[in-house]
Amino acid sequence: MQIDISEIVSCENREVTEKVHIEQDTFVSRLGEFPITKSAPFDLRIANREGSELLLSGETDLTVSIPCSRCLTEVPTDIHIVIDKKLRMDGTEVVDDEMEETDYLIGLNLDIDKLIYGEILVNWPMKVLCREDCKGICKVCGMNLNKGNCDCQRTELDPRMAAIQDVFNKFKEV
Ligand SMILES: [Zn+2]
Ligand SMILES: [Zn+2]
Repeated sequence: MQIDISEIVSCENREVTEKVHIEQDTFVSRLGEFPITKSAPFDLRIANREGSELLLSGETDLTVSIPCSRCLTEVPTDIHIVIDKKLRMDGTEVVDDEMEETDYLIGLNLDIDKLIYGEILVNWPMKVLCREDCKGICKVCGMNLNKGNCDCQRTELDPRMAAIQDVFNKFKEV
């Protein structure tokens, strides 16, 4: 979705609130492709301040499906987006001094998807778990250990389990 902001840029102290929404249904980054399963239209305020600054502000929530860091089960993850940008206006040019390239502005067209993309990236969770005590997957057979146990010999044994196994091994030797 794109918004033409040329009128706001050329009118000193003009302020508008636009209903905007993200159009893409997948978030693609170098980490992979993630379905955006929930998003809703939200209010984006665009304000011209004294003809020298352009303020963008708004808030929304998105749900992105991200695999659990341990077992890879898809986890619907809420990402809260806060847009709060102060752009510099230089004649009819609008510049985001915090970014090397203002990729969400093509001339005076504001690209909402690109604007939100940058915010998703900033708010991307460090680690996603399907549950706090997710047991992960067996490194040998790939079984999801939340769903049951496999018979593989796993090297990283819990010390208590290792003790029990020692007993069993001794038992076998007898
Ligand atoms: Zn998990
Ligand atoms: Zn296994």
